[in-house]
Amino acid sequence: MSKIKISDFKDKTINMHCHTTRCRHATGEDREYVEKAIEAGYDVLGFSDHAPFAFEEGYEPKFRIRMKMEEFEGYANSVMQLREEYKDDIEIYLGLEMEYFPKYFDKSMAEIDKYPLDYLILGQHFYDDEAGWISPKRPWSDEEHLVMYVERVLQALDTERFFYVAHPDIMCFTGDVELYDKHMMRIVKELKRRDMPIEVNVNGYRDGLHYPSPRFIELGVANGNDFIIGVDAHDPKELLDFDIYEKCKRLVIEKGGRLINNL
Ligand SMILES: [Zn+2]
Ligand SMILES: [Zn+2]
Repeated sequence: MSKIKISDFKDKTINMHCHTTRCRHATGEDREYVEKAIEAGYDVLGFSDHAPFAFEEGYEPKFRIRMKMEEFEGYANSVMQLREEYKDDIEIYLGLEMEYFPKYFDKSMAEIDKYPLDYLILGQHFYDDEAGWISPKRPWSDEEHLVMYVERVLQALDTERFFYVAHPDIMCFTGDVELYDKHMMRIVKELKRRDMPIEVNVNGYRDGLHYPSPRFIELGVANGNDFIIGVDAHDPKELLDFDIYEKCKRLVIEKGGRLINNL
């Protein structure tokens, strides 16, 4: 089970999606993320840097996307130290953003669980390591890949380890919209059943990516899901970018969606 759940944060402003330089594509000191979050007015900040995996001995991930397993201890210690130091100003949680790779999940969690991790968010940036790091972010129009993505997300949730799903709409599907609705609605329904809000990802919006997907938001609104803003900060300054934060909120509000835990 995830140690924390969204209902623990009623009436608090939270951002549970934030990175550190250990992922090799973020900038700034860990402390700066905390200070900017306080300045922004959050009650809660969750660190969710890209998770390390217990890959085979000697395997080097091909992209600059994650910390190494041996870096996890330093990350955990840094976050726990900041939690103590800033406890009068903000609640801090130790998390990770992780893909669900069935082959490596249990092995990796056995290492990670040696430390007091508070939560995981699912960020399925790749279908599978075995499939050669194929990203669902590039355009796909076939049903097979759409189903593969949806199945991975549902399997991940079945582990009961995840707090929520980061950018659940990361699958860039350019095929038939009815197919998209049919399969992505399975994720929408599962999130609702598990009382997990749909993340509207500020980083995707900032980079002009295909997510947050208006269609996916519509599916969530039609199904009565809650929505949450995930800043997905890779730079402390991004926690103070209220302009883009408001634009993401508007995407949801204009479609009649219900936002929770926002600034
Ligand atoms: Zn990242
Ligand atoms: Zn992500």
